[in-house]
Amino acid sequence: MISQLHEKLKAKKISSLELTKHYLTRISKDKTNSYITTNESWSLEMAKKADEKIASGKINSPLCGIPIGLKDVLCTEGIKTTCGSKILENYIPPYNATSVERLKNDGAVFLGKLNMDEFAMGGSNENSAFGPVLNPVNLEYVPGGSSGGSAAAVRGGLACATLGTDTGGSVRLPAAYTGIVGLKPTYGAISRFGLVAFASSLDQIGPMGVTTQDCAHLFSSLAFHDPNDSTSASLAKKDYVSLMKGLEGKKLRIGLPKEYFQDMQALQKEVATTLEKVKSELQKQGHTLVEIELPHTPYSVAVYYIVAVSEASSNLARFDGVRFGARKASDQTLTQMYKQTRALFGNEVKRRILLGTFALSAGYYDAYYKKACQVRRLIKDDFEKAFEKVDVILSPVSPTTAFKLGEKAADPLKMYLNDIFTIPVNLAGLPAISVPAGVDQKGLPIGVQFIGKPFSEDTILSMANFIETNVFKNEVDHGLSL
Ligand code: GLN
Repeated sequence: MISQLHEKLKAKKISSLELTKHYLTRISKDKTNSYITTNESWSLEMAKKADEKIASGKINSPLCGIPIGLKDVLCTEGIKTTCGSKILENYIPPYNATSVERLKNDGAVFLGKLNMDEFAMGGSNENSAFGPVLNPVNLEYVPGGSSGGSAAAVRGGLACATLGTDTGGSVRLPAAYTGIVGLKPTYGAISRFGLVAFASSLDQIGPMGVTTQDCAHLFSSLAFHDPNDSTSASLAKKDYVSLMKGLEGKKLRIGLPKEYFQDMQALQKEVATTLEKVKSELQKQGHTLVEIELPHTPYSVAVYYIVAVSEASSNLARFDGVRFGARKASDQTLTQMYKQTRALFGNEVKRRILLGTFALSAGYYDAYYKKACQVRRLIKDDFEKAFEKVDVILSPVSPTTAFKLGEKAADPLKMYLNDIFTIPVNLAGLPAISVPAGVDQKGLPIGVQFIGKPFSEDTILSMANFIETNVFKNEVDHGLSL
């Protein structure tokens, strides 16, 4: 979609201003609650600048003039960044996240800040202080989370493409539930500078788009070294669209983790049959399917919910009423101020701060946090061994398609198990992509996941592109004639 719009913009068949207005009008009629903040003059200003760049023939990127939405966990200079939380309801950052700055430098136009689970904690987007996001495919269903606004906006035609973040599946799960493409890059590929931290050793920013190529365009703009992030990899800027296309037709060894398919009963029937269809298409194409073992898989959800909550409890200590965002009871004692300010956190965030503080406490540190870090290493080793035998790994994204609003809200453990196929990837720091591969009987989208070796985004992008062009044609309507 970005490539087509780029051609139209270059040929002056449409202006960025027209395109931006088109999306802003659609946003004003949105029924899915995808955006928390929009700011028309901010967006139109960028669109005008992009049009000037185009008019002067100085386009430096295919993103020039393209309307993009940003998950509200990415700092935007002068524009509210709430993280879906009451505690940051009126917080205005003094600088742009590196990812935001890079898109801006490439001429992208920002449409606004997208709804999300509070501090990216959740899998259904029901944990936002600004109300849940609805799935544009069927408004009774959740869009997945925590990047629910980012996914719903792409699917519902409220942004050409978006950025989300993925700590345990938050780009891939909502991409699968809404029928769009979501890329979770290798840890360190995209700078986290200016991304409000949830669990720093797991968080990655990821592009979400109608097509794989759209994700490749965004990734090309974002994935190179940033001295402001000490975990940023020393990558050079590359064109992932050409790299992806260059791999077309290459025959690969595709791993199928035995453990993921042991309990086929747990998979929704249509998810299983979609996977079978994908497998046979890949074989027809000349790829080899290889059974692999990831023996520590059963521990991954438990490990994640110790590591992630521990890091979160430490990261969220900074929201104390002194330095960022809201301050309550400023006329009372310091303790009162802390207590009443931090009472603004929602229930899921509180639950995780409590669990994390417990796991890190002196008497339990070795039994929980240290043990979890050791098992995390074993999970990573499993992948390393598997990648001696295969080039990529194929799996479901989630055991089921989207569920109804409220269906799992009362049972956090049920919700946590949704991420069984996505969490191991974050624990191991690997890249993975979710691509639509079918729909169930109710018409709800089904995604499949390709997991790659570190920094092999080009390979998983090319696999997703294959699915999109040869296995399942996804129809997403943005009301534009392309
Ligand atoms: N659903 C997972 C959680 O609640 C993952 C969230 C994420 O990736 N940000 O922690």
